[in-house]
Amino acid sequence: MMIVMKPTATEDEVAAVIDRIESVGARAHPSRGEEVTVIGAIGDLEHITRLDLEGADGVDRVVPILKPYKLASAQLRHGERTVLDIGGRRIGGEHFALIAGPCTVESRDQTLTTAHVVAAAGASMFRGGAYKPRTSPYAFQGLGQEGLRLLAEAKAETGLPVVTELMDARDLEPVLGVADVIQVGARNMQNYPLLAEIGRAGRPALLKRGLSSTLEELLMAAEYILKEGNEAVILCERGIRTFETAYRFTLDLTAVPVLRELSHLPVVVDPSHAAGRRDLVEPLSLAAAAAGADGIIVEVHPAPEEAICDGPQALRTEGFAAYAQRVEAAAGVAGKLAFTAAAA
Ligand code: PEP
Ligand code: MN
Repeated sequence: MMIVMKPTATEDEVAAVIDRIESVGARAHPSRGEEVTVIGAIGDLEHITRLDLEGADGVDRVVPILKPYKLASAQLRHGERTVLDIGGRRIGGEHFALIAGPCTVESRDQTLTTAHVVAAAGASMFRGGAYKPRTSPYAFQGLGQEGLRLLAEAKAETGLPVVTELMDARDLEPVLGVADVIQVGARNMQNYPLLAEIGRAGRPALLKRGLSSTLEELLMAAEYILKEGNEAVILCERGIRTFETAYRFTLDLTAVPVLRELSHLPVVVDPSHAAGRRDLVEPLSLAAAAAGADGIIVEVHPAPEEAICDGPQALRTEGFAAYAQRVEAAAGVAGKLAFTAAAA
C-alpha cells in the first residue's frame, strides 16, 4: 500500500500516518520528494486497510500495490503452477484436461451414451448438470437428485470423474455424493456464502467467470473458496457480455494468459456457452488450447436437436473423437502433454 500525502501536508501529519501504520505491526517507508511525501506501508493488507488512511489529515490518496487476493495469486507459489489430481486425471502445469458431456442430465440413455462416447474419445472428465441455472423460472430446472443418480451411474460405467453444478448450499450433501468437481455457474460466481460452503466442503471446484465480472472479481471469488482451506480451484472463462450481438457471449481469450500470469490456479475455457453455436465451438476450443488453457469444458449431446437445454451449441457425439484429437494437437502447441491416450 502506498500513501500519497498532499503537497500541503505538514511533518506532524506525515509522522501521524507513520505512527498509525506502525501501530498495527506494519512497516512504514517514507520517501520525501520535492513536491510530496509518499509512505510505503508494508504488512497485513487488511490491518492497513482498516486504518482508513484515506481520511487521515494530510493524506491525498491511498494506492494499493499488493493484489487484494493472496491465496489465488501467482506470488503465493513463487511462479509454480498448481496441478490437481482429480480421480487420477491431472489438470494444471503441463496437464490438459478435456471435460465433456451434456449441458443437462436429461435421461439415462442420453447420459450414458454421451459418457461412453466421450470416455472412448479420451476425455478426462464427464460434465452434466442436475441442477440448472435457467434464465426463465418456467424452463426445465434439471432432474435434481435423479440426475445425480444418473451421473453416478455414468461414473461407475466409464470411470470418468464427474463435474456437476451446485446452485444451492442445501443440495451440498447429495452433490458431494457424486461430484468429483463442483461447478459454480457464472451466475453464482459472487454467491459468497455458496463459495464459502464449497470451500469448507473441501471438494475441488470449477469456478466460472460471471457474465460481467472482471478477472480481479473472479480471483476474489476464488479467494472465498481458498480461504476456507480448499486449495483445489479451477478458474473458467466462459464468455462475457460485450456490445457484440452476433454471438451469445464474447469469449475473452486474453483472460487465459493473463489469469495464468496472475494466478497459480488451473484455467479452463468453456467454448460452448460463449459461442451458443455448434460451428463456433471447435475454432474457439483450438484457440483456447493453443493460448495455453489448462483444459476445455465442452457440451456434447447424442441428438442436439432434441436437447432440452443448450442444444444449438452442443457438439454431436458423432465426430467428438476427431474433435478431441484436434484439441489435443492444439494443446500440444502450447506445450501440454497428450491426454487422450492416457484417459482412454
Ligand atoms: C453450464 O455449464 O451448463 C452453464 C449453465 O454454464 P454458465 O454458468 O457458464 O452459464
Ligand atoms: Mn449449458
